[in-house]
Amino acid sequence: MSEINPDWRIATKAIHGFGPSDPATGAVSVPIYQSSTFRFRDAQHGADLFSGEAEGYIYSRMNNPTVNAFEREIACLEGGDAAQGTASGMAACANAILAECRSGDSYISCDTVYGGTHTLNSKVMPRFGVTAIEVDATDFDRVEDAIKQAKNCRVLFFETPANPTLTVLDIRALTELGHKHGLTVIVDNTFATPILQRPMEHGVDVVVHSATKYIGGHGDVVAGCVIASAEFIEKMRKGVFVETGASMTPLSAWLLLRGLKTLPLRMQAHCHNAMRVAKFLAFHPKVVDVSYPGLTHHPGHEIAKRQMSGFGGMVAFAVNGGYDEGLKLIDAVRLATVAVSLGDCDTLICHPASTTHAAYDPEERRAAGIEDNQIRLSVGVEHSADILDDLNQALRQL
Ligand SMILES: *Cc1c(COP(=O)(O)O)cnc(C)c1O
Repeated sequence: MSEINPDWRIATKAIHGFGPSDPATGAVSVPIYQSSTFRFRDAQHGADLFSGEAEGYIYSRMNNPTVNAFEREIACLEGGDAAQGTASGMAACANAILAECRSGDSYISCDTVYGGTHTLNSKVMPRFGVTAIEVDATDFDRVEDAIKQAKNCRVLFFETPANPTLTVLDIRALTELGHKHGLTVIVDNTFATPILQRPMEHGVDVVVHSATKYIGGHGDVVAGCVIASAEFIEKMRKGVFVETGASMTPLSAWLLLRGLKTLPLRMQAHCHNAMRVAKFLAFHPKVVDVSYPGLTHHPGHEIAKRQMSGFGGMVAFAVNGGYDEGLKLIDAVRLATVAVSLGDCDTLICHPASTTHAAYDPEERRAAGIEDNQIRLSVGVEHSADILDDLNQALRQL
């Protein structure tokens, strides 16, 4: 019988954290409840469900048993009271921010964010009267100045390690700063996963994920989640989520539940391989700059050591040359898959300047720390020697 024990280590929680998988049938794998709607026993039952007198399922945009099982599991891993599964990582980011902000409000975001989040900050939120101010969050004075200058500031949002520069931000220090000014602190924990970093243990209020990445882990699902207090999740559901409808599908939830069971094992392999790749690249004559929080010269190394239990699977580096050499390396790899996204079992390689960050104007791009010759590598769980051989033969062609 899987009774949840709060003392379990994270690897055990990843497998048993959501409790008995399906009390109704005893199925070991949570069934995919592929049902849009749920039958009421009678008129009174329907009325009681709607009024909240009775607990149960009504309609899958609101709640679904498979999605709820995933929510219990991810809340357990992050150490939060409650979670909301969402249709994507962007749905998680947008809903978490909109739970707190209305027209006339503003929020602070770090300037090293995922490309989609940058567009949300700079183009989408302003349409609804919500102002996002992006700042260099490694500089606490600047963050505090921005908070003081912002009108009706509600939220401090940041991502660490950040996409795609691998900038590491001090979770505890930023959270204390945010709380000092009464802000809700939201952290995008996609790169680290709860296996390597649990922001709530450092006081963070809300964690968001693109579950598309490591949590799913197999490149077969787009999904996200928000983890927070039950009160925050309820406010988000009532204020924006249920009626804007970015719900997670039961099949996505099932794939994520499956992914979570091997997440600790996969993260161990990602960390091991990424460290080997980072060390190899750091000494390669065709490589000019390697960014990996596990390297002692990385500016965020000490902070990463303090707040993470591993340095993750993402490595950024720059090849000798410019934009063209960046493209050339992409065309020279044989094992690595040329694709955006990250966190899959397969090693994925991409050139941000021509793809994920192509929409930035050059100045914005530089400000976000993205150079024309930069390559982003999501180191997979293949044998590390094969990954190194592939990079080596590709770099030799430059
Ligand atoms: C991919 C990603 C997102 C967006 O997630 P989707 O699932 O693509 O919507 C947000 N934040 C980070 C850090 C990401 O890598």
